Amino acid sequence: MQINKLNRTLGVIGGGQLGKMIGLAAANLGISCHFFDPDKNAPAKNISQSFYNYHYDNEKKLLEFAKKCDFLTYEFENIPLSTLKKIIKYKKIYPGIKPLQVSQDRFVEKSFIKGLGIKVAEFSKINCIEDVRNLLNNNYIKGIIKTRKLGYDGKGQIRVDLKNLNNINLNIKPDNFILEKLIPFVKEISVIAVRKKNGEIKTFEPTQNIHKKGILRETSYPANISNKCSTKAKNIAKKITKELKVIGLLAVEMFVLKGEDIMVNEIAPRPHNSGHWTKDACNISQFDALVRSIFDMPIPQITYIKSCKMINLLGDNFYFYKKYLKKKNCRVYIYGKTEIRDARKMGHINVIT
Ligand code: ADP
Ligand code: MG
Repeated sequence: MQINKLNRTLGVIGGGQLGKMIGLAAANLGISCHFFDPDKNAPAKNISQSFYNYHYDNEKKLLEFAKKCDFLTYEFENIPLSTLKKIIKYKKIYPGIKPLQVSQDRFVEKSFIKGLGIKVAEFSKINCIEDVRNLLNNNYIKGIIKTRKLGYDGKGQIRVDLKNLNNINLNIKPDNFILEKLIPFVKEISVIAVRKKNGEIKTFEPTQNIHKKGILRETSYPANISNKCSTKAKNIAKKITKELKVIGLLAVEMFVLKGEDIMVNEIAPRPHNSGHWTKDACNISQFDALVRSIFDMPIPQITYIKSCKMINLLGDNFYFYKKYLKKKNCRVYIYGKTEIRDARKMGHINVIT
Protein backbone atom coordinates (compact mmCIF):
# COMPACT_ATOMS: atom_id res chain seq x y z
CA MET A 1 0.00 0.00 0.00
CA GLN A 2 1.44 3.37 -1.00
CA ILE A 3 0.44 5.66 1.82
CA ASN A 4 2.67 8.42 0.42
CA LYS A 5 0.39 8.82 -2.56
CA LEU A 6 -2.29 10.10 -0.22
CA ASN A 7 -0.11 12.90 1.04
CA ARG A 8 -1.26 15.93 -0.78
CA THR A 9 -0.26 19.55 -0.43
CA LEU A 10 -1.82 22.88 -1.25
CA GLY A 11 0.16 26.10 -1.52
CA VAL A 12 -1.80 29.13 -0.37
CA ILE A 13 -0.56 32.53 -1.50
CA GLY A 14 -1.53 34.83 1.35
CA GLY A 15 -1.65 33.79 4.99
CA GLY A 16 -4.44 35.94 6.42
CA GLN A 17 -7.55 34.65 8.16
CA LEU A 18 -8.93 33.30 4.89
CA GLY A 19 -5.75 31.34 4.31
CA LYS A 20 -5.86 30.03 7.85
CA MET A 21 -9.44 28.80 7.45
CA ILE A 22 -8.57 27.20 4.07
CA GLY A 23 -5.70 25.44 5.85
CA LEU A 24 -7.93 24.11 8.63
CA ALA A 25 -10.50 22.81 6.14
CA ALA A 26 -7.73 21.20 4.08
CA ALA A 27 -6.28 19.52 7.18
CA ASN A 28 -9.61 17.80 7.80
CA LEU A 29 -9.36 16.28 4.34
CA GLY A 30 -5.80 15.06 4.88
CA ILE A 31 -4.25 17.87 2.86
CA SER A 32 -1.48 20.00 4.29
CA CYS A 33 -0.90 23.62 3.38
CA HIS A 34 2.19 25.70 2.77
CA PHE A 35 1.71 29.46 3.04
CA PHE A 36 3.40 32.42 1.40
CA ASP A 37 2.97 35.83 3.03
CA PRO A 38 5.20 38.90 3.48
CA ASP A 39 3.85 39.44 7.01
CA LYS A 40 5.95 37.46 9.46
CA ASN A 41 3.00 37.34 11.88
CA ALA A 42 0.39 36.22 9.31
CA PRO A 43 -2.49 34.31 11.00
CA ALA A 44 -1.91 31.13 8.96
CA LYS A 45 1.71 30.85 10.03
CA ASN A 46 1.09 28.67 13.06
CA ILE A 47 -0.96 26.11 11.16
CA SER A 48 1.41 25.89 8.19
CA GLN A 49 3.45 22.96 7.00
CA SER A 50 6.01 25.53 5.91
CA PHE A 51 5.83 29.31 5.85
CA TYR A 52 7.48 31.44 3.17
CA ASN A 53 7.94 34.94 4.52
CA TYR A 54 8.78 36.91 1.36
CA HIS A 55 7.23 39.60 -0.78
CA TYR A 56 4.81 38.59 -3.52
CA ASP A 57 7.15 39.92 -6.19
CA ASN A 58 9.93 37.56 -5.12
CA GLU A 59 9.60 35.27 -8.12
CA LYS A 60 12.47 33.01 -7.14
CA LYS A 61 10.97 32.19 -3.74
CA LEU A 62 7.45 31.92 -5.10
CA LEU A 63 8.65 29.40 -7.67
CA GLU A 64 10.51 27.40 -5.03
CA PHE A 65 7.28 27.46 -2.97
CA ALA A 66 5.15 26.39 -5.94
CA LYS A 67 7.36 23.40 -6.67
CA LYS A 68 6.74 22.02 -3.17
CA CYS A 69 2.95 21.91 -3.65
CA ASP A 70 0.56 19.83 -5.73
CA PHE A 71 -1.70 22.81 -6.44
CA LEU A 72 -1.79 26.50 -5.62
CA THR A 73 -4.53 28.90 -4.62
CA TYR A 74 -4.61 32.52 -3.46
CA GLU A 75 -6.58 34.07 -0.64
CA PHE A 76 -6.42 37.68 -1.78
CA GLU A 77 -6.47 39.50 -5.08
CA ASN A 78 -3.47 41.73 -5.10
CA ILE A 79 -0.73 39.39 -6.18
CA PRO A 80 1.29 40.60 -9.17
CA LEU A 81 -0.13 38.93 -12.28
CA SER A 82 3.28 38.88 -13.96
CA THR A 83 4.63 36.66 -11.16
CA LEU A 84 1.68 34.27 -11.31
CA LYS A 85 1.95 33.98 -15.08
CA LYS A 86 5.50 32.64 -14.66
CA ILE A 87 4.49 30.17 -11.95
CA ILE A 88 1.52 28.79 -13.81
CA LYS A 89 3.92 27.17 -16.26
CA TYR A 90 4.92 24.83 -13.45
CA LYS A 91 1.85 24.51 -11.22
CA LYS A 92 -1.90 24.95 -11.56
CA ILE A 93 -3.23 28.01 -9.73
CA TYR A 94 -6.89 27.93 -8.75
CA PRO A 95 -9.44 29.51 -9.26
CA GLY A 96 -7.29 30.65 -12.22
CA ILE A 97 -5.51 33.71 -13.60
CA LYS A 98 -8.45 35.25 -15.47
CA PRO A 99 -10.67 35.68 -12.37
CA LEU A 100 -7.75 37.37 -10.65
CA GLN A 101 -6.98 39.63 -13.58
CA VAL A 102 -10.61 40.74 -13.78
CA SER A 103 -11.14 41.27 -10.04
CA GLN A 104 -7.85 43.14 -9.50
CA ASP A 105 -9.06 46.22 -11.33
CA ARG A 106 -12.49 47.72 -10.69
CA PHE A 107 -12.71 49.19 -14.16
CA VAL A 108 -11.95 45.86 -15.84
CA GLU A 109 -14.25 44.06 -13.37
CA LYS A 110 -17.25 46.32 -13.93
CA SER A 111 -16.72 46.36 -17.71
CA PHE A 112 -16.56 42.56 -17.77
CA ILE A 113 -19.75 42.10 -15.74
CA LYS A 114 -21.61 44.72 -17.74
CA GLY A 115 -20.43 42.95 -20.90
CA LEU A 116 -22.26 39.82 -19.72
CA GLY A 117 -25.50 41.79 -19.69
CA ILE A 118 -25.57 42.00 -15.89
CA LYS A 119 -26.44 45.32 -14.28
CA VAL A 120 -23.75 47.30 -12.44
CA ALA A 121 -23.77 50.87 -11.09
CA GLU A 122 -22.92 53.44 -13.73
CA PHE A 123 -19.16 53.94 -13.68
CA SER A 124 -16.57 55.94 -15.52
CA LYS A 125 -12.81 56.40 -15.66
CA ILE A 126 -11.73 59.76 -14.26
CA ASN A 127 -8.49 61.61 -14.94
CA CYS A 128 -8.98 64.77 -12.89
CA ILE A 129 -11.43 66.38 -10.45
CA GLU A 130 -13.11 68.22 -13.35
CA ASP A 131 -14.13 64.83 -14.78
CA VAL A 132 -15.83 64.09 -11.46
CA ARG A 133 -17.61 67.45 -11.47
CA ASN A 134 -18.89 66.90 -14.98
CA LEU A 135 -20.23 63.44 -14.23
CA LEU A 136 -21.93 64.64 -11.02
CA ASN A 137 -23.45 67.58 -12.89
CA ASN A 138 -24.65 65.50 -15.78
CA ASN A 139 -26.37 62.60 -14.16
CA TYR A 140 -24.54 60.97 -11.25
CA ILE A 141 -25.52 63.66 -8.69
CA LYS A 142 -23.89 61.61 -5.93
CA GLY A 143 -21.03 59.22 -6.41
CA ILE A 144 -18.15 57.27 -4.95
CA ILE A 145 -14.59 57.72 -6.14
CA LYS A 146 -12.89 54.33 -5.90
CA THR A 147 -9.30 53.30 -6.54
CA ARG A 148 -9.13 50.87 -9.43
CA LYS A 149 -6.65 48.65 -7.64
CA LEU A 150 -5.71 47.57 -4.12
CA GLY A 151 -8.89 48.79 -2.40
CA TYR A 152 -10.57 46.69 0.28
CA ASP A 153 -12.89 47.18 3.28
CA GLY A 154 -13.92 50.57 1.90
CA LYS A 155 -10.30 51.75 1.73
CA GLY A 156 -9.48 53.99 -1.21
CA GLN A 157 -13.06 55.26 -1.52
CA ILE A 158 -14.49 58.76 -1.11
CA ARG A 159 -18.17 59.69 -1.32
CA VAL A 160 -18.67 62.84 -3.38
CA ASP A 161 -21.38 65.28 -4.35
CA LEU A 162 -21.22 68.78 -5.81
CA LYS A 163 -21.20 70.31 -2.31
CA ASN A 164 -18.20 68.47 -0.84
CA LEU A 165 -16.20 68.21 -4.05
CA ASN A 166 -14.21 71.40 -3.42
CA ASN A 167 -12.99 70.11 -0.07
CA ILE A 168 -11.71 66.83 -1.39
CA ASN A 169 -8.01 66.37 -1.16
CA LEU A 170 -7.24 63.66 -3.65
CA ASN A 171 -4.42 63.32 -6.11
CA ILE A 172 -6.24 61.91 -9.12
CA LYS A 173 -3.74 60.58 -11.61
CA PRO A 174 -4.95 59.30 -14.96
CA ASP A 175 -6.15 55.69 -14.78
CA ASN A 176 -5.98 55.44 -10.97
CA PHE A 177 -9.63 55.94 -10.06
CA ILE A 178 -13.16 55.42 -11.26
CA LEU A 179 -16.30 57.29 -10.28
CA GLU A 180 -19.35 55.20 -9.53
CA LYS A 181 -22.88 56.48 -9.23
CA LEU A 182 -24.19 56.19 -5.66
CA ILE A 183 -26.89 53.51 -5.66
CA PRO A 184 -29.86 53.88 -3.28
CA PHE A 185 -30.00 50.14 -2.68
CA VAL A 186 -32.50 48.58 -0.28
CA LYS A 187 -30.30 45.66 0.75
CA GLU A 188 -26.90 44.21 0.13
CA ILE A 189 -26.58 40.48 -0.48
CA SER A 190 -23.88 38.12 -1.62
CA VAL A 191 -23.73 34.70 -3.21
CA ILE A 192 -20.79 32.31 -3.12
CA ALA A 193 -20.51 29.91 -6.02
CA VAL A 194 -18.25 26.90 -6.34
CA ARG A 195 -17.28 25.42 -9.69
CA LYS A 196 -15.62 22.05 -10.08
CA LYS A 197 -13.11 20.91 -12.70
CA ASN A 198 -15.90 19.20 -14.65
CA GLY A 199 -17.74 22.53 -14.91
CA GLU A 200 -20.43 21.67 -12.36
CA ILE A 201 -21.50 24.78 -10.40
CA LYS A 202 -23.25 24.97 -7.04
CA THR A 203 -24.01 28.04 -4.98
CA PHE A 204 -24.60 28.71 -1.34
CA GLU A 205 -27.87 30.49 -0.58
CA PRO A 206 -27.68 34.31 -0.67
CA THR A 207 -26.93 36.13 2.56
CA GLN A 208 -27.74 39.64 3.61
CA ASN A 209 -24.86 41.93 4.48
CA ILE A 210 -24.63 45.06 6.59
CA HIS A 211 -21.67 47.33 5.83
CA LYS A 212 -20.74 50.44 7.75
CA LYS A 213 -18.07 52.81 6.44
CA GLY A 214 -17.45 50.30 3.66
CA ILE A 215 -16.65 47.40 6.01
CA LEU A 216 -18.76 44.30 6.51
CA ARG A 217 -20.22 44.24 10.03
CA GLU A 218 -22.80 41.45 9.91
CA THR A 219 -24.03 38.76 7.55
CA SER A 220 -27.35 36.99 8.03
CA TYR A 221 -28.68 33.77 6.56
CA PRO A 222 -31.31 33.58 5.22
CA ALA A 223 -31.43 36.88 3.36
CA ASN A 224 -34.75 38.68 3.63
CA ILE A 225 -35.56 38.47 -0.09
CA SER A 226 -38.16 36.63 -2.17
CA ASN A 227 -37.48 33.22 -3.71
CA LYS A 228 -37.53 34.85 -7.12
CA CYS A 229 -34.86 37.35 -6.12
CA SER A 230 -32.79 34.60 -4.54
CA THR A 231 -32.91 32.50 -7.72
CA LYS A 232 -31.96 35.51 -9.80
CA ALA A 233 -28.99 36.27 -7.53
CA LYS A 234 -27.78 32.66 -7.69
CA ASN A 235 -28.10 32.61 -11.49
CA ILE A 236 -26.06 35.82 -11.78
CA ALA A 237 -23.32 34.31 -9.60
CA LYS A 238 -23.36 31.12 -11.68
CA LYS A 239 -23.12 33.02 -14.93
CA ILE A 240 -20.05 35.05 -13.87
CA THR A 241 -18.42 31.94 -12.40
CA LYS A 242 -18.92 30.06 -15.64
CA GLU A 243 -17.71 32.89 -17.86
CA LEU A 244 -14.53 33.28 -15.80
CA LYS A 245 -13.98 29.48 -15.90
CA VAL A 246 -13.45 29.57 -12.15
CA ILE A 247 -12.28 26.35 -10.53
CA GLY A 248 -12.90 27.01 -6.86
CA LEU A 249 -14.92 29.84 -5.36
CA LEU A 250 -16.35 33.07 -6.64
CA ALA A 251 -18.05 35.46 -4.21
CA VAL A 252 -20.41 37.96 -5.79
CA GLU A 253 -21.51 41.06 -3.85
CA MET A 254 -24.80 42.53 -5.03
CA PHE A 255 -27.16 45.42 -4.39
CA VAL A 256 -30.90 44.72 -4.19
CA LEU A 257 -32.86 47.71 -5.46
CA LYS A 258 -36.49 48.71 -5.06
CA GLY A 259 -38.66 46.07 -6.76
CA GLU A 260 -35.89 43.50 -6.11
CA ASP A 261 -33.87 44.35 -9.17
CA ILE A 262 -30.24 43.29 -8.73
CA MET A 263 -26.94 45.02 -9.51
CA VAL A 264 -23.56 43.41 -9.04
CA ASN A 265 -21.18 45.44 -6.88
CA GLU A 266 -17.99 43.39 -7.01
CA ILE A 267 -16.58 39.89 -7.22
CA ALA A 268 -13.84 38.01 -5.39
CA PRO A 269 -12.34 34.70 -6.59
CA ARG A 270 -11.67 33.37 -3.09
CA PRO A 271 -13.44 32.65 0.19
CA HIS A 272 -15.31 35.72 1.37
CA ASN A 273 -16.03 37.29 4.73
CA SER A 274 -19.75 37.10 3.96
CA GLY A 275 -19.40 33.29 3.71
CA HIS A 276 -17.99 32.61 7.17
CA TRP A 277 -21.46 31.61 8.41
CA THR A 278 -21.19 28.47 6.23
CA LYS A 279 -18.70 27.05 8.75
CA ASP A 280 -21.51 26.47 11.26
CA ALA A 281 -24.74 26.59 9.28
CA CYS A 282 -24.01 24.18 6.41
CA ASN A 283 -22.94 20.59 5.87
CA ILE A 284 -19.87 21.93 4.06
CA SER A 285 -18.30 25.37 4.47
CA GLN A 286 -17.03 27.67 1.74
CA PHE A 287 -13.52 26.58 2.73
CA ASP A 288 -14.37 22.87 2.41
CA ALA A 289 -15.97 23.58 -0.96
CA LEU A 290 -12.81 25.33 -2.19
CA VAL A 291 -10.48 22.51 -1.14
CA ARG A 292 -12.81 19.87 -2.58
CA SER A 293 -13.01 21.64 -5.94
CA ILE A 294 -9.21 22.01 -6.16
CA PHE A 295 -8.61 18.33 -5.33
CA ASP A 296 -11.57 17.19 -7.42
CA MET A 297 -13.53 15.68 -4.53
CA PRO A 298 -17.34 15.41 -4.50
CA ILE A 299 -19.38 18.38 -3.32
CA PRO A 300 -22.76 17.19 -2.02
CA GLN A 301 -25.99 19.11 -2.11
CA ILE A 302 -25.56 21.92 0.40
CA THR A 303 -27.86 21.75 3.44
CA TYR A 304 -28.58 24.43 6.05
CA ILE A 305 -29.62 24.94 9.64
CA LYS A 306 -32.52 27.33 10.16
CA SER A 307 -30.63 30.58 10.50
CA CYS A 308 -27.26 32.02 11.34
CA LYS A 309 -25.76 35.44 11.86
CA MET A 310 -22.07 36.21 11.48
CA ILE A 311 -20.71 39.19 13.41
CA ASN A 312 -17.25 40.57 12.63
CA LEU A 313 -14.98 41.52 15.51
CA LEU A 314 -13.32 44.68 14.24
CA GLY A 315 -10.51 46.59 15.97
CA ASP A 316 -11.13 47.07 19.69
CA ASN A 317 -14.42 45.15 19.47
CA PHE A 318 -12.14 42.15 19.49
CA TYR A 319 -12.33 42.12 23.30
CA PHE A 320 -16.08 41.33 23.17
CA TYR A 321 -15.15 37.77 22.21
CA LYS A 322 -15.00 36.99 25.92
CA LYS A 323 -18.70 37.81 26.20
CA TYR A 324 -19.55 35.53 23.27
CA LEU A 325 -17.48 32.67 24.66
CA LYS A 326 -20.05 32.36 27.46
CA LYS A 327 -23.01 31.96 25.10
CA LYS A 328 -24.12 28.49 24.14
CA ASN A 329 -25.31 29.44 20.64
CA CYS A 330 -22.13 31.32 19.64
CA ARG A 331 -19.08 29.95 17.86
CA VAL A 332 -16.05 32.16 18.33
CA TYR A 333 -13.23 32.48 15.79
CA ILE A 334 -10.14 34.48 16.64
CA TYR A 335 -7.68 34.96 13.80
CA GLY A 336 -4.58 35.36 15.95
CA LYS A 337 -3.42 38.72 14.60
CA THR A 338 -0.69 40.14 16.79
CA GLU A 339 -1.72 43.80 16.49
CA ILE A 340 -5.13 45.45 16.88
CA ARG A 341 -5.68 48.29 14.42
CA ASP A 342 -8.70 50.50 13.90
CA ALA A 343 -11.47 48.44 12.19
CA ARG A 344 -9.07 45.57 11.45
CA LYS A 345 -10.74 42.17 11.13
CA MET A 346 -9.63 40.37 14.29
CA GLY A 347 -12.16 37.52 14.42
CA HIS A 348 -15.82 36.69 13.95
CA ILE A 349 -18.73 35.11 15.78
CA ASN A 350 -21.31 32.77 14.28
CA VAL A 351 -24.58 32.99 16.19
CA ILE A 352 -26.53 29.84 15.38
CA THR A 353 -30.19 29.00 15.81
P1 ADP B 1 -14.51 47.04 -1.08
O1 ADP B 1 -13.65 46.40 -2.11
O2 ADP B 1 -13.75 47.97 -0.19
O3 ADP B 1 -15.40 46.06 -0.36
P2 ADP B 1 -16.98 47.94 -2.36
O4 ADP B 1 -17.04 48.47 -3.74
O5 ADP B 1 -17.57 46.62 -2.10
O6 ADP B 1 -15.45 48.00 -1.92
O7 ADP B 1 -17.64 49.01 -1.39
C1 ADP B 1 -17.80 48.80 -0.01
C2 ADP B 1 -19.23 49.14 0.39
O8 ADP B 1 -19.52 50.52 0.06
C3 ADP B 1 -20.30 48.34 -0.32
O9 ADP B 1 -20.50 47.10 0.27
C4 ADP B 1 -21.49 49.28 -0.18
O10 ADP B 1 -22.03 49.23 1.13
C5 ADP B 1 -20.87 50.64 -0.38
N1 ADP B 1 -20.88 50.99 -1.81
C6 ADP B 1 -19.95 50.69 -2.73
N2 ADP B 1 -20.28 51.14 -3.94
C7 ADP B 1 -21.48 51.73 -3.83
C8 ADP B 1 -22.36 52.41 -4.74
N3 ADP B 1 -22.07 52.56 -6.03
N4 ADP B 1 -23.52 52.91 -4.24
C9 ADP B 1 -23.83 52.77 -2.92
N5 ADP B 1 -23.04 52.17 -2.02
C10 ADP B 1 -21.87 51.64 -2.45
MG1 MG C 1 -16.95 44.89 -1.17
